[in-house]
Amino acid sequence: TKRYDKGLAKSRKGFGAMLNSLLANFRSVDEDFFEELEETLIEADVGFETAMKISDELQEEVKLRNAKRKDDVSDAIIERLVDIYEAEGQDEDNTLHFAKEGPTVFLFVGVNGVGKTTTIGKLAHRYQKEGKKVLLAAGDTFRAGAIEQLAEWAKRVNVDIVTKPEKSDPAAVVYDAVVKAKKEDYDILLVDTAGRLQNKVNLMKELDKIKRVITREIPEAPQEVLLALDATTGQNALTQAKQFKEVTDVSGIVLTKLDGTARGGIVLAIRNELHLPVKLVGLGEKMDDLRDFSPEEFVYGLFK
Ligand code: GDP
Repeated sequence: TKRYDKGLAKSRKGFGAMLNSLLANFRSVDEDFFEELEETLIEADVGFETAMKISDELQEEVKLRNAKRKDDVSDAIIERLVDIYEAEGQDEDNTLHFAKEGPTVFLFVGVNGVGKTTTIGKLAHRYQKEGKKVLLAAGDTFRAGAIEQLAEWAKRVNVDIVTKPEKSDPAAVVYDAVVKAKKEDYDILLVDTAGRLQNKVNLMKELDKIKRVITREIPEAPQEVLLALDATTGQNALTQAKQFKEVTDVSGIVLTKLDGTARGGIVLAIRNELHLPVKLVGLGEKMDDLRDFSPEEFVYGLFK
């Protein structure tokens, strides 16, 4: 739980405190209690559907266990929240996948401003520290300044980068990067892309082309297609995710700026409504502020 302490301070004061106060004023598990619980969950961006699900399941469980004491109810809530992540039949794989041999490729998608570039920088730093040979590909050739921004990160964390001038074909940048990664034995290639949801057909074509270029050189790549979502945008993040799912195969979510919201419940909504695993969370702007997502640490972090 320590690792989440700082980054979850806001959600702990918001979402966590609301749940704790609900439990503190707890007298009996009656209708009012569950109504208040639903309101609290919705308030925390858990989403209507997910809030109802948690509440319904909890009512069952409280009955089943004959839970009357505050601690029992509190335990049941915590377990439900964690269980949302481990529900049967769902892909419960929160981990990142790597190539057994040769370069691993992660493709990053998401709209402007969600924290894609920053996440790539943080992840590059992580792998560089682990002694891996890291290459970045500046595939967002559309947004002004995106190439430069990624190049700055490359310099800051001391990894290599492949760039082309603004407005170049992103697939051409990615091609150069993949060839370089293969030839020069890089362990991992992190690919930035432009996330223009305004034109879904074009975005779909662009991402398809990028993927084809990668797969042609490395058949089992990309190992991950990671969609970055900004936790502070709440239900909008869910809408974005639904749209991206229509455009490309997303393998996991990077939930950024979790430190910037008091409504950390969005994590649960993503899991329950999109059936996509949150694999990484951003807990700040610095290079060390990226964590692998752990449901237990997250939920316990809220209640501490
Ligand atoms: P991109 O357009 O998706 O590449 O987004 P950027 O990486 O440029 O990030 C947009 C802004 O969000 C920048 O000011 C980042 O410093 C900030 N940012 C990114 N991730 C996080 C995070 O986890 N926490 C906080 N507080 N800020 C973040």
